[in-house]
Amino acid sequence: MKAGFVAIIGQPNVGKSTLLNRILGQKLSITSRRPQTTRHQILGIKNVDQAQIVFVDTPGMHGKEKRALNRYLNRTANTSLVGVDVIIWVVDSLTWHEFDAVIIEKLKQAKSPVILAINKTDQLKSKALVLPFLDAAKNRFEFNELIPISALKGNNLDVLERKITELLPNGSSIFPEDMITDRPEKFRVSEMIREKLVRRLCHELPHALTVIIERFEKKRSLIHIVAVILVEREGQKVIVIGRNGENLKAVGQQAREDIEGMLEAKVFLDLWVKVKRGWSDNERSLNSLGYGG
Ligand code: GDP
Ligand code: MG
Repeated sequence: MKAGFVAIIGQPNVGKSTLLNRILGQKLSITSRRPQTTRHQILGIKNVDQAQIVFVDTPGMHGKEKRALNRYLNRTANTSLVGVDVIIWVVDSLTWHEFDAVIIEKLKQAKSPVILAINKTDQLKSKALVLPFLDAAKNRFEFNELIPISALKGNNLDVLERKITELLPNGSSIFPEDMITDRPEKFRVSEMIREKLVRRLCHELPHALTVIIERFEKKRSLIHIVAVILVEREGQKVIVIGRNGENLKAVGQQAREDIEGMLEAKVFLDLWVKVKRGWSDNERSLNSLGYGG
């Protein structure tokens, strides 16, 4: 038996969440076209023959640490490398320009085996286009494996999974085998709501938006959930609600359907919008919202 922790790192939007969801075959971490949708370190657990792979999804690493939220994101991304058994560095074969020196430094410090996963190869006009990429990579760092993949189409993920398993240390399961994630249901519910908001309002809304679950009550066959969407300014509240409440209504309906699927129960979802000035730039409110260390 093999078991261990695997960190998925890389710039925002390269396909880390898509890869994790695809490997796990379930929607645990949220994905969207916008960078920085993943705010939390999420454990996804995959039990295969003779092995347990525990995935840690990380937010992208950011150069600037201007605001408290970004500082938190950076901390999570860095600490997630410590003590992991395998690191998967995901890069986008289309937008790649050069190997990030900061990431390479961090990989050297972490001392864990590193797999370079070259993603989105389904969009390359020719497979040969990946060759110069592989050469450049080999010159910059001693990767244990270099694997071209498509997280979206599922190409080569079996190879990736096999290589990960090979690199894991020997040991028995870390978590019970029926467990898929260590995140509580409430957290996953708030992420589902936030995902719908980001998808619907992507052009109008800044990253300054969070969802907290105020009530989560199981009553026989019905689950009653009260969720509050926090925004920074009055104007953002107007946007989130939309004309005649149409945005909030659509988000609520889509989120409810997803949540019902996840919880396998009827859900009554009550959505509210509140203004809390400067929440993303205040460590204390971050902590009170559960983003703290
Ligand atoms: P993350 O920020 O690294 O977690 O990236 P996401 O997983 O959220 O993906 C960002 C975008 O890239 C989404 O629109 C995905 O559908 C898309 N994407 C991810 N993997 C692939 C892939 O293999 N091929 C293509 N064509 N698109 C992908
Ligand atoms: Mg992500």
